[in-house]
Amino acid sequence: MPNKIIFSVDVEKDINQDSFNGVLIGLKNFENICDKNNIRPVLFVTGEVLEKFSKIFKRLYKKGWEISSHGYTHKRFDDLSNAEKEKEIQKIVKLYSKFSFKLEGFRAPQHSIDKRTLDLLNKYGFKYDSSYTPLNLFQFLFFPQKIVLNIRGFFSPLNEYKIRSNLREKPCPSLLIPFVSLTMRVLPKPLIKLYLRILNIFYKKPIFYAHSWDFIELKNSKIDRKFPHKNLLNKIDYLMSLS
Ligand SMILES: [Zn+2]
Repeated sequence: MPNKIIFSVDVEKDINQDSFNGVLIGLKNFENICDKNNIRPVLFVTGEVLEKFSKIFKRLYKKGWEISSHGYTHKRFDDLSNAEKEKEIQKIVKLYSKFSFKLEGFRAPQHSIDKRTLDLLNKYGFKYDSSYTPLNLFQFLFFPQKIVLNIRGFFSPLNEYKIRSNLREKPCPSLLIPFVSLTMRVLPKPLIKLYLRILNIFYKKPIFYAHSWDFIELKNSKIDRKFPHKNLLNKIDYLMSLS
């Protein structure tokens, strides 16, 4: 039976650090629960990480995991000039030409997708973007920063649609709070089940997302101390069993 949830991970440098323990250790922790539940997730990997640790991604691709792009350097796309955006995308395209992965999906760092970036994804042959998070109240935390972008995101369609001539949008679901690792850290299992049930009313095939650093201990993070990564992995395992 096909899975009801798509599991995705943004694979990047550890948060606020210069290390890659999420890639080296975290992904392995995540892989164990994927194997147990027979899940083949989508990884949105930054170009830097893909270059540095190419062996890991070649191996996971062979297992049937999708290797897609999370930008080259993890800079916000809406902060780049048009020329810089195009340069980033060209670097990604060049990098992918060295691998057997097809250039499929893209998720902008911090969901910083804008119109020009979508045009470029279309131009350079990407199949889909997965950056929009409709109905997400969290994106207004930094109000009034990025207000136009955030309002556009909030009212964007809930389910997959064509956004450019050859490009589809696969939105990341939200029900005021997004379907992400932080939500799973905080909610107890019975509420996760309820959340998923309501999500399924609005979203045909919800995409869950976490980050590579969600799967390791983050010593300086209050959130990881209060809602530890080990419990998160256990809850993702539970979510996979419901999928
Ligand atoms: Zn990211």
